[in-house]
Formats: sequence, structure tokens, C-alpha cells
Amino acid sequence: MARYLGSNCKLCRRENIKLYLKGERCYKKEKCSLETKPYAPGQHGKQQKQKKISDYGVQLREKQKVKRIYGVLEAQFRRYFDKASRSGGITGEALLQFLERRLDNVVYRSGFAGSRKEARQIVRHNHVTVNGRKVNIPSFSVKPGQFVQIAEKSRKIPRIVTSVETSEGRGIPEWLTVNKQAFQSEIKRMPERSDVDMNYDIQESLIVELYSK
Ligand code: SF4
Repeated sequence: MARYLGSNCKLCRRENIKLYLKGERCYKKEKCSLETKPYAPGQHGKQQKQKKISDYGVQLREKQKVKRIYGVLEAQFRRYFDKASRSGGITGEALLQFLERRLDNVVYRSGFAGSRKEARQIVRHNHVTVNGRKVNIPSFSVKPGQFVQIAEKSRKIPRIVTSVETSEGRGIPEWLTVNKQAFQSEIKRMPERSDVDMNYDIQESLIVELYSK
């Protein structure tokens, strides 16, 4: 499956917002590239801040930001959007709900991984079960009533243990109930708009406008 292999920090600098793609490092001011180099990457990065950006440009950047937060490439993101627009609800909110329900996102938001990228790797490497059965598909969509758990043999893996220990400050969204001792997260209900991490200041209506052209 295709995936982005470039620099994560460049993505934050391009979007001019912390996307928290590198786990603990993102919380240390001196180690975060956006803090030390707060301008777009590339030769003309510093000048780009002064440029006036068109409406289309604003919409495009918002879409790129959300894709990068969740680590989803264009084709898959477009499929989520199409599903959201057919869902009968508010398209932008339904889009975010589909993204939040991804198994890799649940592993990250439950505190079992330091970033969504790490969570994706943990899922792919067969360290995660859903209702007791191994699931190694990061895009697997969770439902209320399901239990996501780190497989028993994987609970001593240092990066998973460290993530569980250090995830306290990030906070657990209300649609999940996490039992740290059991490395288990219960899906209490569907995620709502207010459950999406507010640090990212997502304006989903811009994405809807972009795709509706
Ligand atoms: Fe983004 Fe984290 Fe890199 Fe900072 S350290 S630029 S938040 S990926």
C-alpha cells in the first residue's frame, strides 16, 4: 500500500500548524522543527508567509492538513468524503467521524501509541485485537460496543509501554473508555464533532467546499 515516506516535520511546516506526527518529540519545544523553523520548507519558504492565499488555496491547505493529521492519502480520503456525502448527515462531520473511527486512530487516541504513524505500524504488525480477534488493517472502522486491545504477547513492547505511561497529558476522548492495566479501549459511542482534537482547529466546511466545486 502506498504511503508517505518524506519528512513529517516538513508537513507541519507546510501547514504552519503542529500536526503531532512524531509522538513525544512534538511536545518538546526545542525538538520541534515548527518551533525552531516557523516557515514553510524549501528555498522560498520564508517568503511564502507574506503571500496572499486564494480561497481555493485555503480550501486545499485545509484538506491537506486533515489528510496529513490522519495519515491518509488522496484516493482514500476522497473515498471517505464520498461515503460521508452519501451518509445523510452533515458531510464535514461525517467525514471526520469516518477518520476518527479508523483503528489506527483509536490505538493512538487510547494512548497505546505516540503518534498515528506509530499506531498504524502497531496495527500492521499484528499487535492489536478487536473483540479478541487480531486485526491488522489500520483503516478498519470501529463500532460502538467493540473492544480494542493490545494483544497479550505485545504488552511488554517498550514503545507501547512508554506510550501508555506518557499519554496522560494528551487526554482520552469521551467516546472511548480506556483500561490501561488491560491495555484495552472500549468504544462507548460514535465519535462526535466535539470529540475531534481541538488542537488542530479543523474547518471541515472548507473541504466540503473544495470537493463540491
Ligand atoms: Fe510537527 Fe512534531 Fe515535527 Fe513539531 S516535532 S514539526 S509537531 S512532527
